Amino acid sequence: MSSNLLEKAYEPHEVEQRWYQYWEEQALFSAAEKSSQKSYSIVIPPPNVTGVLHMGHALNNTLQDVLCRYRRLRGDNVLWMPGTDHAGIATQNVVEKKLASEGTNRYELGREKFIEAVWEWRKKYGGEIINQLKRLGASCDWKRERFTMDEGLSRAVRKVFVDLYHEGLIYRGNYIINWCPRCHTALADLEVEYEERNGHLYHIRYPFTQGEGGIVVATTRPETMLGDTAVAVHPDDERYRDLKSEAVILPLMDRVIPLIKDSYVDMSFGTGGLKVTPAHDPNDFEIGMRHELAVVKVIGDDGKMTPAAGKFESLDRFDARKAVVEALKKEKLLEKIEPYKHNVGHCYRCQTMVEPNLSRQWFVKVKPLAQKAIEAVKTGKTRIIPDMWTKTYYDWMENIRDWCISRQIWWGHQIPAWTCEDCEEVIVSMDAPQSCIKCKGQKLVQETDVLDTWFSSALWPFSTMGWPDKTPLLKTFYPTTVLVTAFDILFFWVARMMMMGIQFMKDVPFKDVYVHALVRDEAGKKMSKSTGNVIDPLTVIEKYGTDAFRFTLAAFAAQGRDIKMSEKRIEGYRHFVNKLWNAARFALMHLDQPYETINLNNLSMPDRWVLSRLARVTQAVAEALESYRFNDAAAGIYNFVWHEFCDWYLEAIKPALYEKEGPAKKKTTLGVLWCVIHDTLILLHPFMPFITEEIWHKLPGTRGSIIKAIFPADQDKGAETRFDTGAESQMTLLIELISSIRNIRGEMNISPSFSLAATIQTKDSKIKDAIEQYKDIIINLAKLDFLNVTENAERPKSSATAVVGGATIFVPLEGIIDFGKEAQRLEKEINKLARELETVSKKLENENFLGKAPEDVVQQVKAKHSLLQGKQQKLQSNLNKLKEIES
Ligand SMILES: [Zn+2]
Ligand SMILES: [Zn+2]
Repeated sequence: MSSNLLEKAYEPHEVEQRWYQYWEEQALFSAAEKSSQKSYSIVIPPPNVTGVLHMGHALNNTLQDVLCRYRRLRGDNVLWMPGTDHAGIATQNVVEKKLASEGTNRYELGREKFIEAVWEWRKKYGGEIINQLKRLGASCDWKRERFTMDEGLSRAVRKVFVDLYHEGLIYRGNYIINWCPRCHTALADLEVEYEERNGHLYHIRYPFTQGEGGIVVATTRPETMLGDTAVAVHPDDERYRDLKSEAVILPLMDRVIPLIKDSYVDMSFGTGGLKVTPAHDPNDFEIGMRHELAVVKVIGDDGKMTPAAGKFESLDRFDARKAVVEALKKEKLLEKIEPYKHNVGHCYRCQTMVEPNLSRQWFVKVKPLAQKAIEAVKTGKTRIIPDMWTKTYYDWMENIRDWCISRQIWWGHQIPAWTCEDCEEVIVSMDAPQSCIKCKGQKLVQETDVLDTWFSSALWPFSTMGWPDKTPLLKTFYPTTVLVTAFDILFFWVARMMMMGIQFMKDVPFKDVYVHALVRDEAGKKMSKSTGNVIDPLTVIEKYGTDAFRFTLAAFAAQGRDIKMSEKRIEGYRHFVNKLWNAARFALMHLDQPYETINLNNLSMPDRWVLSRLARVTQAVAEALESYRFNDAAAGIYNFVWHEFCDWYLEAIKPALYEKEGPAKKKTTLGVLWCVIHDTLILLHPFMPFITEEIWHKLPGTRGSIIKAIFPADQDKGAETRFDTGAESQMTLLIELISSIRNIRGEMNISPSFSLAATIQTKDSKIKDAIEQYKDIIINLAKLDFLNVTENAERPKSSATAVVGGATIFVPLEGIIDFGKEAQRLEKEINKLARELETVSKKLENENFLGKAPEDVVQQVKAKHSLLQGKQQKLQSNLNKLKEIES
């Protein structure tokens, strides 16, 4: 037994581990800083350091890996830059939970010790997601792995902050945040826990300044009315079209406030009037900005009413609510109070009711940056694929508002701003200043806020390559070739990378942005833990192997269409992996030496056909991958491997392989077989990296890793030279003829091993010649013992017929099947089906069942119904044919 034989069955796990280790040891994913080859680069969307590989990551990284491996085969110098994101709030929460389980918290530890604890956590657990990406086969240049909090990236963050500040593009301003009056701290959105509560809806009438009457507004927090600075209605609201008054009187405060029109207002809610309290509601704050309304803060940071609340000053916010309601009742301005269920936010730490509160925050002025980012797409410097996302990008960028970049947490890039306690001068600089630049004072206090996590990820395409230094890596690989991303971070991340890249690198961060779809469950529902429909990538990798899983993702990655993922689909592609394995195993039993050159003069028609098909598939795969049609590329190779190479070519060459046609013929055939296996492995490699590497090393004549192979289209002669339309049309004819005879066998229930005789009648001399020429192939593959080709033929008695193109096939069945018995068998089958069908039909007519059964159960029954119906029709038509034949 020679060493190039493959194991009987493919065992993915052992193979995957072995080859991944080999790739890393051989540094096969390494990009060269300088190279004469074409550059190709992708930066990974950095997964959170707290992340665990989910379907979204699996799809995103499989597609990137397909592109990178493909470009390496095309001879490019490929950089796939990996790394992780420090994920401020998410990571801080994980570590805080750990501390809580140890009976302590971050306040007890203090900021410095807490941050140390986070770094320790990261050292211990932060590499998990990276290891999972490796199991997926990701071919990142791991020795360049970066982290958004590492030293180089932190320097880039400070540089960007300082530069934007000095250009006037970063400023401080007021902003609404979630505030815990007990902890005396701002809370991030994720730190607020919402809970449905039984509350009340208070309807308050605000009198018009002109004319009779007033407008009624409804609120769950009546105490905030003291800080109202407007009442808003929707511009399309018919009820207020002819309103005379332009203002109302704020009850209890006797302040005149404007009546404004804003499309944020929900017309269907109550009277359609909305009280606007910019200091105590985030949406009202936005309305206030649009209409330049005053901001009156009536609830203080301690949860007590401020002097701005007039006679309610210093009352606790909950006592103030009661007092305000009483006062309104007295003035007869409270129309009604109704019970009302609503979500109330609570501090995740102490359960105190959160108060939306106005506070000083840091902002990026984005308009000037956004303008350039819009132009870059308009002028085609960056393409968004599929194109449908371009409009969304413009819409968002044109309506972009200033970006609040400060967060009141500890884990992140602390803002490089210091305030002088003596003169209040603010100093923004890369490093801690020694003394105040204005008064030379020494008491400088650094801003405690950290930057929004997206601030550092916005710099990712150039900070990872060593910016602000002018590195060779930047020179070689910036702008990157393509960004592969899901649409949900198009704005959080992609738009901001565009703005920062253009601002600091004077060039776009990527030439293409490929936006892929979401992975949903089988029924098209979003996967979620609570629904229980999550498919865990690591579980399916364990069960079906990485290659089958990756191929499934690619095969369904059609542009603009979500992927419906099911284990059944992955299982289906595992059959494909096994099919490839078995085909290679068969071929390798015969391929005892390399056959790198083919004698083109001695090729048989099936040889020419398979080489032509291979050349076309090569071209189709290249075209599909270059336009991000992953599904088309996968489908192209799948069909070639399974339905052309395995189904037909391997069958057609068996006589040659067993030397029934002489040693010279065998040698030529082996040459073609070697070439097809060799090139097919290369085509499949980007999708199925492990099994292709395994077979590659068993194929005589290959050297080193398949990663270093040359894509078929770039090999010396080029693919087009192998196009052979003549062979393609001849082979198509043979395939159709053989399939028709096989169908007759199936329909008439004749064993595949029983030899038949057939007559093919055609007046087309070209077809006739082709059939004559390749008679042996038909006889062999259709399992005939006799084939007669003729221009004129009467239909032999009791023969089945089929028509293919310009030819009619007759298969005489007299004496081969017992017509009566076969008819009986079919009738029995049909009757049995009819009974089953009746049961299912009854179920579907049952209103009770339809009304009560879950939707997916009903769908299953419907599917069964149409399956039975299909079977029945097929058998009926077989029976009809049988009766025709007999006559
Ligand atoms: Zn609290
Ligand atoms: Zn000073």
